[in-house]
Amino acid sequence: MTAEAVTIGTWGVLLIVLAMVLAFLMSLRAHPEDRRGPRAGLANLLLSSEPLQRARIWRFLFMASNHAFGLLALNYGAQHGVLDAQACQVLTVVAVGVIGAIYLALRSGWNRRFADPALMALQLWASIVLLGWGYLIGGPGRPVALILLFVSLMFALLTVTFRQMTQASALAVLVFGAAALGVVGQEHDQPLVVELQVLYFCVLLIILSSACVLVRQLALLRERAAHARHDLAEAMAKLHGQVIRDELTGLFNRRHMHKLLRIEQNRADRSGLPWCVAMIDLDLFKRVNDEHGHPVGDEVLHSTAQVLSGGLRGADQVARWGGEEFLVMFPETDSEDACQVLERIGQALARTQVSPTVPDLRVTFSAGVTRHLADEPLAHTIDRADHALYRAKASGRNRTECLSGPV
Ligand code: GH3
Ligand code: MG
Ligand code: MG
Repeated sequence: MTAEAVTIGTWGVLLIVLAMVLAFLMSLRAHPEDRRGPRAGLANLLLSSEPLQRARIWRFLFMASNHAFGLLALNYGAQHGVLDAQACQVLTVVAVGVIGAIYLALRSGWNRRFADPALMALQLWASIVLLGWGYLIGGPGRPVALILLFVSLMFALLTVTFRQMTQASALAVLVFGAAALGVVGQEHDQPLVVELQVLYFCVLLIILSSACVLVRQLALLRERAAHARHDLAEAMAKLHGQVIRDELTGLFNRRHMHKLLRIEQNRADRSGLPWCVAMIDLDLFKRVNDEHGHPVGDEVLHSTAQVLSGGLRGADQVARWGGEEFLVMFPETDSEDACQVLERIGQALARTQVSPTVPDLRVTFSAGVTRHLADEPLAHTIDRADHALYRAKASGRNRTECLSGPV
């Protein structure tokens, strides 16, 4: 085998290794949910197991592998005598050092202390300086530096701000402008050297201005998406409020109270603490409607709801169960205490002006209280509270009855 064949083979192997690194990085991104096996272990080691850091390091390594390709191309050129081997060696050592330092900064978590934790602006600036340097010493292959700059800018588009991109563009104009002048100085005896440098510089300006425009548009899109997300969250919260509440009284509705009862049942099953349910029904409410009209009846319902919620303790919950019926849940309370609370609220309601339209109108309620028994279905507890309410009505209304055992 000739020496040239060996050299071509070596470069080929290096290119294949680089392609494999890229393919590996792509596969990590394609299967982020893959958390086991050797690939996941290697990914955790290389990129970190924390998703945000992982995304940052992945993006950096992808960009770094593009630069590695640039270094390979430079060294290939140097080996074939097309460009200065010593300058190429210096650039290679510096570039590997910079890439290694940024990788360490990211992998060690040191990046987290900065306002730009992805170190994107730093990466972009380092990229521009290294590529500008590569452009200066790159000989006939220097347009490759422009292509790699384009790739770096593509990556940066996703994360940098418009301000960072304009600053990076200004740096690129300075660095590549200086490099172009350097090339004109070095190769003034070559044909069309000035024209070519002007042409490449124009290409650079097109790349940079496109990147700035795209970053601006992406920022606007992100802003619009953030507004839409905010509006959606507000609408969802409003909708949720409407879904769980009764429109007339503002109390929880029956469906939501069912949910709260189930939660309390599970909690009390674990804690073993007593809890009670009360069923409340306005007395002779049909008469209110008949004598004063339905709108006054609605005012009464609204006022009753306020008296009920105002008289309960913070942990107690009240819902409009049906027409003029309310259900109260008393967590960590035995039935005697619940009865006392209801009697107090009942007295308060009897004194309260419940209709602005008919200021003299007064109403009362009857209530049935029971304690939830361990392991019984909720429906049984509610039936028993209903039964106690029935007794309160039968014994003359405006009172609270308590039923402690199964009926
Ligand atoms: P009791 O003391 O036995 O409970 O007598 P009552 O008149 O309250 O008896 P009943 O439960 O039969 O009457 C309930 C009335 O409540 C009948 C219904 O028209 C009225 N009602 C139910 N929902 C509403 C509502 O949203 N607004 C108004 N204004 N009235 C309602
Ligand atoms: Mg009723
Ligand atoms: Mg009633």
